[in-house]
Amino acid sequence: MHATEKVTKASCPAHFESLLRDAGIQPTPQRLAIAQVLLHKAVHCTADEVLQAARTLLPSLSRATVYNSLPLFVEKGLLRALRLDSERTIYDSRTDVHSHLYHEDTGLLEDLPPAMLHSMPRPVLPPTLELVGLDVIVHVRQSKLHETRTSDDITL
Ligand SMILES: [Zn+2]
Repeated sequence: MHATEKVTKASCPAHFESLLRDAGIQPTPQRLAIAQVLLHKAVHCTADEVLQAARTLLPSLSRATVYNSLPLFVEKGLLRALRLDSERTIYDSRTDVHSHLYHEDTGLLEDLPPAMLHSMPRPVLPPTLELVGLDVIVHVRQSKLHETRTSDDITL
């Protein structure tokens, strides 16, 4: 998701409260705001995007609370943390093992489309191991050829 996406206060707070309780997390107003941003559908967000979106629900929410709560959500199995590099961690509300497409030029991370996943070569494993899942990040950027063609089209 991009944090500018609107989160409505109407998205049933009681649902998120029981989601947090079931995961063993005390549902404070701050954690509920974070949960509403991240757990209403499948999203990929940085901590700053979570902060920005959750502040639309709870303007007093502090950066420290968001940065402390996200690892707790990960530890309790509500989120996955995907480390893109030493400075960038993306929080994913889809917690099963799956692969991603990372657009280096825009910073967008999305689940790898199934068609791309099916076309990827499978690793050759020793007979003592079986494949349980693929969890890879495919890094891409806009093709330079495509960029050139697009700008030619614009000038015509
Ligand atoms: Zn994902």
